[in-house]
Amino acid sequence: MLNVDLHCHSNISDGVLAPAAVAAYARKAGVDVWALTDHDEVSGVAAARAAAVEQGMRFVPGVEISITWAGETVHIVGLQIDADNAALVRGLAATRSGRDARGREIAAQLALAGIPGAYEGALQFVANPDLMSRTHFARYIVDCGKCANIPEVFRKYLSEGKPGYVEHRWASLGEAVGWIRGAGGVAVIAHPGRYRFSDTAQGALFDEFKQLGGAAIEVVTGSHSPHQYPEYAALANAYGFLASRGTDFHAPGESRVDFSQLPPLPSNVTPVWHDWF
Ligand code: AMP
Ligand code: MN
Ligand code: MN
Ligand code: MN
Repeated sequence: MLNVDLHCHSNISDGVLAPAAVAAYARKAGVDVWALTDHDEVSGVAAARAAAVEQGMRFVPGVEISITWAGETVHIVGLQIDADNAALVRGLAATRSGRDARGREIAAQLALAGIPGAYEGALQFVANPDLMSRTHFARYIVDCGKCANIPEVFRKYLSEGKPGYVEHRWASLGEAVGWIRGAGGVAVIAHPGRYRFSDTAQGALFDEFKQLGGAAIEVVTGSHSPHQYPEYAALANAYGFLASRGTDFHAPGESRVDFSQLPPLPSNVTPVWHDWF
């Protein structure tokens, strides 16, 4: 069976390895079909494609778009996109544009919470100045010894309601799905089990996404607990969505599951890649 992994990050967003290094890392762990899905950014796709081909993997160009839906941040993955599509590229640039100002505000709040110098500190971990992420702040806060690991940083400082959390307005669901479909891609709701929606709100998200032409949800992802695999497989079938699979890998040793450890999709779903090859 093919190992298809359709969600991960390079240092073009909040991963630590360059796109070609992620390709080599994924291949070594047994991946056969691979997508790079950096946050709000497609500038790593060309290097990723070249490296994937060199490694003997099939490549799927991707992106993970930050949106705001019902006041919550949700992530929409786009797969098989044309990364040169003008409307997509413009939309992603607009989505990224508030990140630096947000980073300065996060740093100001962290300073009040006893962590000074976090803007400059986080910047040391940023490879793409267009994409400063909370993950870069988390790496800095671990590095300076304030927390033992990244989940602890999010728990204490960077999640909603915590001292370093800054409200941010991302793209809309309609915009993200429109950019992805306009670029010839397939829209996928990333790690649906991670959002704090009621069943009713989650159902409304799925309905609206379906209406907009959304095609799939992630079922097996490093961002789900194993008990959520069958749960979201059943939901995919109930809503008529295809199922996607990917580690959401960010860095060796940092992610919950590595490429070699992710289970296959349950056999009762239709994979999002069923008609790709
Ligand atoms: P941002 O786009 O700047 O809001 O950062 C979001 C990123 O932070 C996500 O893509 C994850 O990589 C990371 N993240 C969010 N919540 C957590 C968490 N609880 N533990 C570890 N990483 C997290
Ligand atoms: Mn991330
Ligand atoms: Mn995500
Ligand atoms: Mn991700």
